[in-house]
Amino acid sequence: MLAYAPVTDQAVGSAATATGAPILLSAPFLDDQEAARAAQALHSRMAGNGPFTQRAEKRLSERLEGSRVLLTTSCTHALELALLALGIGPGQEVICPSFTFVSTANAILRVGARPVFADVEDASLGLDPADAARRVTPRTAALLPVHYAGVAPDMDALLALARTRSLRVIEDAAQGLGATYDGRALGTLGDAGCYSFHETKNITCGEGGALSVKDPELAARAEIIREKGTNRSAFLRGEVDKYTWVAEGSSYVLSDVLAAVLDAQLDKFDEIHRRRRGVSDRYRAELGDWARARGVRLIPSLPGREVNDHIFYLLLPDEAARDRCLGHLRRAGVQATFHYVPLHTSPFGRSLDPEPPRLPVTDRVAATLLRLPLHPGLTDEEVERVVAAVRSFPA
Ligand SMILES: *Cc1c(COP(=O)(O)O)cnc(C)c1O
Repeated sequence: MLAYAPVTDQAVGSAATATGAPILLSAPFLDDQEAARAAQALHSRMAGNGPFTQRAEKRLSERLEGSRVLLTTSCTHALELALLALGIGPGQEVICPSFTFVSTANAILRVGARPVFADVEDASLGLDPADAARRVTPRTAALLPVHYAGVAPDMDALLALARTRSLRVIEDAAQGLGATYDGRALGTLGDAGCYSFHETKNITCGEGGALSVKDPELAARAEIIREKGTNRSAFLRGEVDKYTWVAEGSSYVLSDVLAAVLDAQLDKFDEIHRRRRGVSDRYRAELGDWARARGVRLIPSLPGREVNDHIFYLLLPDEAARDRCLGHLRRAGVQATFHYVPLHTSPFGRSLDPEPPRLPVTDRVAATLLRLPLHPGLTDEEVERVVAAVRSFPA
């Protein structure tokens, strides 16, 4: 095993080290296979759309109901690619949650459209169909729900809204690979699904992403945009004898070296998810009574929604309790953390909209949510330490 520095993202502070090494919030699950597979790619083809890209796309497609899968440089780029392929752009609006990572809104802005922030459902922390419906205008082109923590929002209601108002649905499934809604893989319910293989996600190649689409015409447009507006993909399949510029495009192709790393991660997909489930199950079993007695909510198990154990969160009764609990856990050497600053309250979000929307559930969730360490490498003893630290918080 290689040694890794603690994984940090925008919201992770450093945990105190009073009790030894801090228990990390997140860590990739790697062995020698990733490096070996990357070396193999280095010695054959390094550019994108090579043999490892095609293999990883096929393996992902099998997990995504046979959708066409295109590997991309990131989920951010997969979102941009989806919007471009669907022809969404200037003068149009896209409704998304404010409780999300900046990429969701950046992708909308990058194609020249306007993000319109809607509130999230209390149950799933995903896009609220009723609030989204109130924000639909004649300019609305699409809904962009986010599967936060691998929990889908009420997709039946969102898809029904999209049908009645003729809107596209692009799923930000960056956190959703391996999770389902009524037995269907997240990211395959709407027109397009976007996934992330960032270091903090369940399977990773450092930086990387994927787009999944069912409609072959949409897939054909997306593969041209991804390859700088050329028909190189058709050329590599032997469908045309030379490739050329056929549309406006950009470069969203993942290097085959990173696709090889992803391919090695796909070998571990089931083991990673089994280990993550084991940690979540223990948190649920050992923190349930503690939470009920203190008015703390745990990430829910909603009927028909199978999660992928990407995140395990608690919702504390109020912001002061959440912040005290964070301090308590960090002092115990547990790298617990909050999550998003809602985009509509961020400096750039406010500059986009002089009259920010009222999103009460978003504000409350952002102020009270706390994430516990969750990754496949956590030992039983570490999970025990996290549980003990949480249970010793008086609340
Ligand atoms: C991680 C994440 C992204 C961005 O993924 P990248 O691959 O880093 O671009 C987008 N949306 C959500 C909800 C995420 O969690």
